[in-house]
Amino acid sequence: MSNQRFKAINDSQNRSRIDIKEDRRRSELFATKVFNEEKMIQHLTKDALESVKGAIFAGSKIDRKIADQVAEAMKGWAISMGATHYTHWFQPLTGATAEKHDAFFDLLADGKALEKFGGGQLVQQEPDASSFPSGGIRNTFEARGYTAWDPTSPAFVYDTTLCIPTIFVSYTGEALDNKAPLLRALNSVDDAATAVAKYFDKNVSKVNATLGWEQEYFLIDKSLAYSRPDILMTGRTLIGRSAAKGQQLDDHYFGVIPQRAISFMKDLEKECTKLGIPVKTRHNEVAPNQFELAPVFEEANLAVDHNLLLMDVMEKIADRHKFKVLFHEKPFAGINGSGKHNNWSLSTDTGVNLLSPGTTPMKNLQFLTFFINTIKAVDTYEELLRSSIASASNDHRLGANEAPPAILSIFIGKQLSEVLDELEGVSQGKLSPEEKTELKLNVVGKIPEILLDNTDRNRTSPFAFTGNKFEMRGVGSKTNCAKPMTVLNTIVAKQLKEFKKEVDELIAKKNLKKDEAVFNILREYIKKSKRIRFDGDGYSDAWEKEAKRRKLSNNKTTPKALEVLTSKKSLDLFKSMKVMSETEVRARQEVELEAYILHIQIESRIYSELVYNQVIPSTIEYQNALIQNVIGMKDIYGAAHSKFSDGQFSIIEQIAEHVAALKKMTDAMTETRKKANALSDTHKKAIAYCENVKPYFEGIRTHCDSLEHLVDNRLWPLTKYRELLFIK
Ligand code: ADP
Ligand code: MG
Repeated sequence: MSNQRFKAINDSQNRSRIDIKEDRRRSELFATKVFNEEKMIQHLTKDALESVKGAIFAGSKIDRKIADQVAEAMKGWAISMGATHYTHWFQPLTGATAEKHDAFFDLLADGKALEKFGGGQLVQQEPDASSFPSGGIRNTFEARGYTAWDPTSPAFVYDTTLCIPTIFVSYTGEALDNKAPLLRALNSVDDAATAVAKYFDKNVSKVNATLGWEQEYFLIDKSLAYSRPDILMTGRTLIGRSAAKGQQLDDHYFGVIPQRAISFMKDLEKECTKLGIPVKTRHNEVAPNQFELAPVFEEANLAVDHNLLLMDVMEKIADRHKFKVLFHEKPFAGINGSGKHNNWSLSTDTGVNLLSPGTTPMKNLQFLTFFINTIKAVDTYEELLRSSIASASNDHRLGANEAPPAILSIFIGKQLSEVLDELEGVSQGKLSPEEKTELKLNVVGKIPEILLDNTDRNRTSPFAFTGNKFEMRGVGSKTNCAKPMTVLNTIVAKQLKEFKKEVDELIAKKNLKKDEAVFNILREYIKKSKRIRFDGDGYSDAWEKEAKRRKLSNNKTTPKALEVLTSKKSLDLFKSMKVMSETEVRARQEVELEAYILHIQIESRIYSELVYNQVIPSTIEYQNALIQNVIGMKDIYGAAHSKFSDGQFSIIEQIAEHVAALKKMTDAMTETRKKANALSDTHKKAIAYCENVKPYFEGIRTHCDSLEHLVDNRLWPLTKYRELLFIK
């Protein structure tokens, strides 16, 4: 066995497990490292507390003096928790999080030292962040971007650093991050949904979008992962023959979690609990070494921060347990990849889930209103929603028949479809008293009962109603949920605004009662948004054809999917909902395209390295051994040797053919890359990478994987799938 592979396997086998003691109850540990309301009550003056709460719940500004007080209290608390540094924690457009640590420590003019952290440092910072992608918003020579405190997401102490969640914006006011647009989208859905919710309950004064994500991931022994240049550099295996046993036996799914993985999870959950991430479930997923973790849902901005923090914490804890976590959407060919379902709903400050049917006809009419408006919003902006989950790595799943397809459609189940069908038949204008009774009692009134046994689940649907929330299933495991959540909340906000306008007009002009007007508009929406509803098999070819007939988009690649971002319709939407200006949207499109190009470029380079530095040399070594053997046979048997060396000959030839093909393809790929690099237009370059460079990957992989099968196991340099996936 090659040295690197042997050493990796040996290392992985000599691991001892870290025992994690559950010394305290989860509820006692919860949020101990978070400067949440409880800590604020303890540490802040009444004025400061009121002011921060005002900022959290009503978006009011915090004045400088109060900010100083909050900073002082936060510093005291953080130091008592062992913090020595603070950082503004933000989400640049790279998709990950960023931080720049500063010590609390400062020197006075007289040389004395003190711990310093004032309102100024809390509220605003100017990181030297000129190298973050900005899509041209901010030229690097004028690297002026600043981070600003987001009081709606509480500060926390991680390790020895006080982390303050912030937005990242340019001095000209444009968002340079994923959080600022999300906050604006949440604001706009709050406005729109509150106005509509008031039709049903005057006491509603705020609506929060809620998000419950489900994070899938792979755990691979660290030394095994690091023995593979492709995993190390790209997060996935670019080559590798499927193991004889994969997931076909379904013996991993919901099975007993391996001991080493369990101790990692315990450690992780303990840390998450302290950081206020309400992790709740853990289980094995379908593929070997694949797992899932899900928290209790939270307000969407907080949930997004918690997901990003979780991914960061996971990497650190994994390292302690000598694991590497793979967040890539498709780390291994031939077995399932990973996603991150986004469960989404709207919830009022009166404690009502607007997507949960209630006990009275009025509550159910409210449910139907939000339910149907969401369907209409997704129908109108399906292509835009698809674009929000586009990335080089997620392209491996969407449309690859294991995750939801690249076509967006909505599954609502048979019973709710029947309800919508009945509503569609309601007559226009004023309703007769009989009609009203019939509607309220027999259609709307029956919804809660219907949902009780609404058990049919469609796993192939990208956007499914699951009883009291919608579940967006195409989100990639690596994706920052802020992206899909920004689009989803913006389109729902826009839709609800339009709905309110139309209902009010009907009430005013046609003298209809409120519920009559609501029924009238909903009926029209049901009719107009029919094409988006699909309860069948989303993986089938028949659906692809049918979707085309319905004029639903089917953008299978990222460069194609991103085009819609800058359509007039999308630009108008973001502008009218005050979520993003045209400059901001264009910048994001540019950044996403650039990221796409870089990912494919790196993968392509690694392919060349693997082929030239690993696969061909070890293959030739084996081929030489065979040649020596044939020569030996000839020495012994003379002309009769072919009787004994036919097999060897055949392998020598097969190897020669694969090597020749590999070299040809790899060189041709490099040529297309050079041509693509010469293009200056980012979109054209991304298309060139997608359509000219990437298609070589499959062929190169096939030859490498055939060689893995032919070549002596002892000589093969790369850790094999069976070793990566089955060694515990
Ligand atoms: P499953 O989908 O596995 O059957 P659940 O229905 O209990 O499990 O919930 C799945 C996920 O949906 C969980 O992560 C949970 O936090 C989230 N969720 C439940 N209710 C809501 C809601 N109202 N808003 C957002 N997410 C929710
Ligand atoms: Mg789910």
